[in-house]
Amino acid sequence: MDIKSLTKEELQKELKEMGLPGFRADQLYQWMHVKLVRTYDEMTNLPKDMREMLEKTRPLVTLKAERVQESIIDGTKKFLFELPDGNMVESVFMRYKHGNSVCISSQVGCRMGCRFCASTLDGLERNLTPSEMLDQIYEITRTVGERISNVVVMGTGEPMDNYDNLLRFITLITDENGLNISGRNITVSTCGIVPGIKKMAEEHLAITLALSLHATTDEKRKQLMPIANSYSIAELMDACSYYFEKTGRRITFEYSLVGGVNDSEEDATELSALAGPLKCHVNLIPVNPIKERDYTRSNKEAILAFRDRLEKNGINVTIRREMGRDIDGACGQLRRRRMAEDIDD
Ligand code: SAH
Repeated sequence: MDIKSLTKEELQKELKEMGLPGFRADQLYQWMHVKLVRTYDEMTNLPKDMREMLEKTRPLVTLKAERVQESIIDGTKKFLFELPDGNMVESVFMRYKHGNSVCISSQVGCRMGCRFCASTLDGLERNLTPSEMLDQIYEITRTVGERISNVVVMGTGEPMDNYDNLLRFITLITDENGLNISGRNITVSTCGIVPGIKKMAEEHLAITLALSLHATTDEKRKQLMPIANSYSIAELMDACSYYFEKTGRRITFEYSLVGGVNDSEEDATELSALAGPLKCHVNLIPVNPIKERDYTRSNKEAILAFRDRLEKNGINVTIRREMGRDIDGACGQLRRRRMAEDIDD
């Protein structure tokens, strides 16, 4: 485990084993997780020989922004980060009235295979470490120079497929000795890995869980999401009510509207029946078409009619505001474009 992925207690133990006094761990932790410096060199109150030793034996994980695209429509910034091993991930910075939000990736690629998603087209490369998840937020904070108050784990990857690192990431980002982001302002989005949802329910975290539902029957869901072959909607709803019971946190259902596939009146009625009893919030996402697949987005009338039907049924529903439409907004598109350039070179 790299040094930036350690909790404060673990870091204290690690430095003690290196023969360093406890207060050095406090200083180091603060440099990494509060002052957010990029290198040991910048940790000016640490002795030079300590910095040199750390540099040699415990290289600091710092992401490099390989490319930044800024939307001229809404100021959304999309970052393409290079990881220490040369792999790349995407993160998005969004400015809302209620504060700044960052959408981070949890894996390099993804093995879930959702049909409409660009992040999964080349499968899973590897999991991100806790420090690689953290540093997406740290580097964006450094670059933008503003505090981030909301984090959504909704970029590339399936967070529940990288459970232990995700949990460690949440522990570190919510640590009062670190950036101290409130659990309430963290959303983890999953395609619906039932054991992960149940396990998460027992962690006593105040985070919001978002479930990518996208269909209301198993048959239809299987066409869009291979994970539906492993867990039925009935099992998913059980896991969601368990989560709600244990945490008191309402779940968000994400529902990407695909033209002619899941956007009928009947779909809306069935979705209401699923969301109602659980008091879920429904977030409608007009699907972002990717060129590798022939799914199209529902037309405007269908989207509004779908929302109205949910509202009539007493469901709390929003249509996701589209941010950064001009900058490869959809999951995984920027990384794929960059990789295609490498192949062209
Ligand atoms: N693996 C997690 C988190 C990453 S995907 C999950 O499945 O929830 C984040 C959200 O974006 C999911 O709801 C996903 O289904 C959705 N999504 C992915 N590609 C999309 C696209 N092209 N258009 C609309 N929504 C998309």
